[in-house]
Amino acid sequence: MTKSDDTFHIHPPERSRQPFQAVAMPVERASTIVFDDLEAFETRAERVYDGFSYGLYGTPTSRLLEDHIAQLEGAARALVVPSGMAAMTLATMAVCRSGDRILMPETLYGPARDMILRFLGPLGIAAQSYDPRLDAGIAELLDERTRLVWVESPGSATFEVQDVPAIVAAAHKVGALVAADNTWASHLLFKPLAHGVDISMQALSKHAGGHGDLLMGSLAVRDEGLFRRLKDSARFLGYGVSPEDCALCERGLMTMPVRMRHAAASATEILAWLSQRPEIARILHPAMPDHPGHVVWERDFSGAAAVFSVVLRPELAPLQNEVLRRMRLFRLGASWGGVHSLIAVNDPRKGRTSLDWLPSGPVWRLSIGLEALEDLIGDLEQAFVPFAEFATASKAVGRTAAE
Ligand SMILES: *Cc1c(COP(=O)(O)O)cnc(C)c1O
Repeated sequence: MTKSDDTFHIHPPERSRQPFQAVAMPVERASTIVFDDLEAFETRAERVYDGFSYGLYGTPTSRLLEDHIAQLEGAARALVVPSGMAAMTLATMAVCRSGDRILMPETLYGPARDMILRFLGPLGIAAQSYDPRLDAGIAELLDERTRLVWVESPGSATFEVQDVPAIVAAAHKVGALVAADNTWASHLLFKPLAHGVDISMQALSKHAGGHGDLLMGSLAVRDEGLFRRLKDSARFLGYGVSPEDCALCERGLMTMPVRMRHAAASATEILAWLSQRPEIARILHPAMPDHPGHVVWERDFSGAAAVFSVVLRPELAPLQNEVLRRMRLFRLGASWGGVHSLIAVNDPRKGRTSLDWLPSGPVWRLSIGLEALEDLIGDLEQAFVPFAEFATASKAVGRTAAE
């Protein structure tokens, strides 16, 4: 019947579709999908939440990844979106309307705070920041207009651990939902839904991706109605994820527990090394007994990610650039959770009023990768040399002045 070469370019010869049983996730690309009959075509919109209607709304690859995330989160349903940031915007917009109020910790991921204040603020959604150490005390800030409470535990840059079950209890009393940015712990070390949270969000770009080459975020929920609201909003915003990215994320998930355990073991050794160094004024890590929320971390978490901060002695601030430039393995970079070790330099004091407990001095966030432990400590040791020289020189100056 078909005669033209042009048509043959579009329709290859048929081949049996016998199952090809790879252990890896199959990548199935599509914008267009076709239907066998008119009824299937006309009812395709019903298959937006399950099944297939158009590539943007789900492919076999994205649905497999979503089922996998739901299982790992202990959720009924999960949704993957193009980034962690997209997940935070989606969750907030799906839940809040003009006139509603949001509570967010001062430690919430900076770009998300910006999004809530500068993008949703002008749309009539009011936000109030709170001290991440407030815990059950958040009850005083909640009112009947409050629709959503964000938590991020431990918080960005300074790692205060929040009493999530206490916050959930207070929020649910006034009918507010709780969303958790669980990127640091991931589903492996803390399960937000098991602690009463309504929406568990994580940036899969970090531990799940794990190699510094993937952007993706996920939202996991127990409630089907809430899932449909999120999915509808994702549709309205035109969020879709490519099947290649889903397969890459799935590959990351397979090695994630091993990577995280290895990096955490290295981090423990590096913390021990840092705690002996005179340059360090304080270590900001939930496992430190004097750290804000340490007791809650021990109660609710099954471990620590290899991401933490240190406060340097303030007099070392002018030497930071020289020391960072000497690093060969630890590179300056804002992301974390991958195989490469990174340092990010941020001043968490900007715009925060709840840092009375933090000593002054530059704050460095370290993400420990999978390089050999002795090489990482060696890198820090050689890079710190100007710090040590400075300390010796200033001690000598101090002695001269005292004499
Ligand atoms: C990276 C990160 C995000 C955003 O994830 P992207 O995929 O980079 O948009 C959100 N929250 C936390 C805590 C993060 O570290």
